[in-house]
Amino acid sequence: MAFANRALALTYWIDGKSCTGDRSLAKAMEETKYMGAKASERLRSSTDTDFQNVYEFLMKRKKSDKSELDTIEGFMSDVGKMTEVNDRNSANVRIYCDDEQRWKPRLDPKTKQKTGGYEDPDNWIQYSALSIFSYPGCHDTRGGNRFTYAQSYKTYMAGEPLEKQADLRATITMCELGLLHKGKRRRVFSELDEKLDLTKASGVEVLKFHPSKVILHELSHYHGYNTIDNGYFIKPDGPGTTIRQLNAEELMKNADVRSYLGQMAILADKGYTFQRKPLDSAPQREKDAWNANMEIGKLFLYPNLTKRSLKRRMERLARRYNKV
Ligand SMILES: [Zn+2]
Repeated sequence: MAFANRALALTYWIDGKSCTGDRSLAKAMEETKYMGAKASERLRSSTDTDFQNVYEFLMKRKKSDKSELDTIEGFMSDVGKMTEVNDRNSANVRIYCDDEQRWKPRLDPKTKQKTGGYEDPDNWIQYSALSIFSYPGCHDTRGGNRFTYAQSYKTYMAGEPLEKQADLRATITMCELGLLHKGKRRRVFSELDEKLDLTKASGVEVLKFHPSKVILHELSHYHGYNTIDNGYFIKPDGPGTTIRQLNAEELMKNADVRSYLGQMAILADKGYTFQRKPLDSAPQREKDAWNANMEIGKLFLYPNLTKRSLKRRMERLARRYNKV
């Protein structure tokens, strides 16, 4: 568990009004939960050495660092167990794709002038903009262009909510950028062509904007997990810091590295993982190539990969037992 002192059983609600038709987030959220469940399972396995390599490479620490492993595994396990509810006000996580339409500028009750900041009375959550010219996440245009793929909010408005709300709550918005690419809907991983060979791709980065991965990133900002955005992506995407530039301590606080772990956990179902390390006796050029492949998140396909999962081994043992 992520927290010894409380068991998290998070509920979520998806806004049915704004997430309709082609822009449905239901599939993405199902895949996000699957990422959590699979990452938890693979992290708990003592035989899944490929996923151990993925974890140790991305987190820059040994899996044997027990408390850090428990923190990551606990988050993944919690995500895997999230349940959907139909009632927004009782949900811990409320997922929107309304491009922040629900926000209202905060007004001075007397003068009705904008005071800066925005309010979302439906969820009783506020967004403190730096000035009246600053818009909520999806519409933020610092640097000239809109750049936000998704956004989480968890600061409550002052006073008593008009309607009773879950004590712990946050909203996530999937923005236009995170949902559409060149006018087309961004797909989830499970919708990709079965024949697609990801070893031909430059690396796991080709999937870096998959909505299911983005949602996992956002969930890690939730109360208690409290990750921050001290780095994004494996390969540079603009001037910002990448997760590869962070150290082990910084990675423990980072949101994006968790989303890659989740993604790698389900890619492993199809046999994909990072390259297995060459032996110490291997020629230097092989070691150099391995290093280069790891740093770009290059995917490799190993036929015996999924057999390494502990659960499957248990199933195999169970089958053997049944025959006796
Ligand atoms: Zn973030």
